[in-house]
Amino acid sequence: MPLYEYQCIACGKQFEKMVSFAEADHKPECPDCHSNNTQKRLSLFASAGSSTTGTTLTNNCSSHGRFT
Ligand SMILES: [Zn+2]
Repeated sequence: MPLYEYQCIACGKQFEKMVSFAEADHKPECPDCHSNNTQKRLSLFASAGSSTTGTTLTNNCSSHGRFT
């Protein structure tokens, strides 16, 4: 699941949330003030993070194969 950055417009809080593609257009609740007045921020870290996860999984598989 992709990690998105959001900012609460009501209080200015910035937070990250993992959302499924089905929820990607849904505005999450601010963890601080519980307002739904939040907006998604574009983040380069989201795509970098998911590709890093993929590499880690591949490395785990190959080392496990060698062990067997
Ligand atoms: Zn807030």
